[in-house]
Amino acid sequence: MNRYRVTPGSDLDLRSLDPADSAAFEGAKKEGRKLASNLNARLEILQEVLYAENRHKVLIVLQAMDTGGKDGTIRHVFDGTNPQGVTVASFKKPTTEEMAHDYLWRVHARTPKRGEITIFNRSHYEDVLVVRVHDLVPEEVWGRRYEHINQFEKRLADEGTTILKFFLHISKDEQKARLQDRLDIQEKNWKFAAGDLDERKLWDDYLDAYQDALERTSTEWAPWYVVPADRKWYRNLMISEVLVETLESLEMRYPDPEPGLDSIIIE
Ligand code: ATP
Ligand code: MG
Repeated sequence: MNRYRVTPGSDLDLRSLDPADSAAFEGAKKEGRKLASNLNARLEILQEVLYAENRHKVLIVLQAMDTGGKDGTIRHVFDGTNPQGVTVASFKKPTTEEMAHDYLWRVHARTPKRGEITIFNRSHYEDVLVVRVHDLVPEEVWGRRYEHINQFEKRLADEGTTILKFFLHISKDEQKARLQDRLDIQEKNWKFAAGDLDERKLWDDYLDAYQDALERTSTEWAPWYVVPADRKWYRNLMISEVLVETLESLEMRYPDPEPGLDSIIIE
């Protein structure tokens, strides 16, 4: 899985990475499905232990172009986990209240508690993506943010948060097909936003902004993964794999029981 990790400090060329890649599972969609359900079962247990142990915090950041599959990832990868310990935080256009604070204010407030997994559906990265592409603040201002973000994430990591960041990498053609589906399939009409077509025109600017962000903020304590996302099954599989491996590496365990449980008789 390390093949998709952005090595801290290294150059990244997003345009050279194939969104339809399925190299770790060449053509083996069916076998991939089986592995996915195995990973899913492991995640269920890991999440329960995480919750029971109440020690670690886990933050998962999902970023993508429109139609990139953030919603589908959340639905599939976390299928079967306990909603009590898994929270989704979606970051939309900031409200007036949010705008009156610094850009990390609303983000910090939604970071995971002990025992919890929080999934960021969009994130503080919007403040160096959409904000940069649309010139919402001067370059001088957004340019400083990469460093802030690294420090912010370092602080979370130092205080016990495990951070994983995924960029769901789709091709422009795949986006076209998915937008077309949203027009053609009645049950998907609700997802169609005309504004997405304007953003699509800025594809290259977004790709440049993503490239810089991923390159500058992939760190040992909060690595980015560029996940090939044209194939949904492969995207889910790769994300599940990273997540399960990372959680297993935490070596979590159920808390010790109260002493003397074995001599208790319930009348
Ligand atoms: P999504 O597109 O993530 O599936 P959605 O379709 O439900 O979500 P949108 O209104 O499209 O809802 O999503 C969020 C919009 O808010 C995006 O266009 C995003 O770029 C924008 N946004 C998020 N954070 C910021 C920010 N800090 N500044 C400006 N715009 C932001
Ligand atoms: Mg949208």
